[in-house]
Amino acid sequence: MPEPTQFRLYNTLTRRVEPFTPADGRTVRMYTCGPTVYNPAHLGNFRTFLFEDLMRRVLALRGWAVQQVMNLTDVDDKIITRAHGQGKTITEVTEPVIEVFHQDREYLRIERAEFYPKATDFIPQMIALVERLVERGVAYQAEDGSVYFAIDRFPGYGRLSRLDTREVKSGARVLQDDYSKENAQDFALWKAAKPEDEATGAAWDSPWGRGRPGWHLECSAMAMDILGETLDLHCGGIDLIFPHHEDEIAQSEAATGKPFSRVWCHGAFLLTEGAKMAKRVGNVSSVQGLREEKFSAAALRHFVFNTHYRKELNLSAEALEASTEAVRRVGDFAQRLGDPATLEAGGTPELAIAADEAVRVAEAALFDDLNGPEALAALFNFIRRANAELDRKGGDRDSVERARLAFERIDRVLDIVPDPVQADAELEGWVTERLAARAAARQERNFAESDRIRDELLARGVVIEDAAGQTRWKLR
Ligand code: AMP
Ligand code: ZN
Repeated sequence: MPEPTQFRLYNTLTRRVEPFTPADGRTVRMYTCGPTVYNPAHLGNFRTFLFEDLMRRVLALRGWAVQQVMNLTDVDDKIITRAHGQGKTITEVTEPVIEVFHQDREYLRIERAEFYPKATDFIPQMIALVERLVERGVAYQAEDGSVYFAIDRFPGYGRLSRLDTREVKSGARVLQDDYSKENAQDFALWKAAKPEDEATGAAWDSPWGRGRPGWHLECSAMAMDILGETLDLHCGGIDLIFPHHEDEIAQSEAATGKPFSRVWCHGAFLLTEGAKMAKRVGNVSSVQGLREEKFSAAALRHFVFNTHYRKELNLSAEALEASTEAVRRVGDFAQRLGDPATLEAGGTPELAIAADEAVRVAEAALFDDLNGPEALAALFNFIRRANAELDRKGGDRDSVERARLAFERIDRVLDIVPDPVQADAELEGWVTERLAARAAARQERNFAESDRIRDELLARGVVIEDAAGQTRWKLR
């Protein structure tokens, strides 16, 4: 057996691309920060979730089992404000949003993670973690009743974000509260309840009185409860490096004395016309909007994977249209490979060579820090070569089979074959009528008329193909 190809990832902790293997050699225990469920996630969030989907599929391709946790943040300031304004409980706000999240996720073919823990289901574990930190002397209760983490009592603070080198500026996520902290940068582990927390069902009993967990604490508690004290891999968008992930590390490592995650991976942002997407600003684009504009999941996946996950990506209608065109070629190729007539006509030795090479090149790219654009280039190169070889109808069934398996192996990761476009009943009736008219014209050898009908069909996106005395049609 040859050595399996080395698998490498860029680790934010070391700022280097490094060889990666799970600690036990078999199962990758992976934590991915999930959505705050007060509004449907926007396409920026989904860029990150697609990067994590690519990650889990590539880890599986490499032969490892994956245990992925994606938390659902269902208690936080924005949710409470929303609920309070609408006279609802936080659960009444979050439940429908969680439902939409899963619908959107399925539409985009993002594989289901093994766990979707809700923060509100892990309050006892969060309290236990704060107790450990208080016992160890790194957390304190302030006069306002909230419990804070004392960052100057944790020597490793700032290691991930390299605060000392000022590489990362403190983002908008830094808590802007006026609580009585020892140090302005200490962050809340447990927040004393306010009247609106009580009113919306966002307060629980604790040794420090009524209150609710801080956002950073939620992730540490759920990650360690479900996956153990040291994870293999922790992912999220780049905006989470500081303070969220820095604070997750501080809390977890101060409590356990063990490394919290061996590797940290961060995806770059999706921008709309150069501006950062945020739920708070107007340029929101959702999966719902994408569906209304008739952009397929395959097209969005192609668009996202065609830029390396560590590079910023601009959302534009032109780019989505180009991706739609690209995946149409993928869909046509998939259909050709699945057609019994293709197997019948057979392939050439060159087809088998192209298939093997496509798998080798695409896998090497994916195993090298998830290089999506190179994997896609390998796939499209293969499609071009394979189409040319198939045109030669070389008679060899094995090479066609080999091409099909190669294509399936690569597409199991990328998943970019578009769903066949469904025709509505009105269109279907019209096409049937037009095809009958065309057949009649051809019967009368009126080829000008039959060509005219073909163009008429094409104008509505209907492509026809005459084969073996039959006319088949499909939508472009
Ligand atoms: P949130 O719901 O804001 O906590 O974000 C959920 C995930 O989406 C996190 O991993 C964020 O880093 C990520 N994220 C937020 N905005 C963007 C964006 N514009 N592009 C890519 N990822 C984003
Ligand atoms: Zn998190």
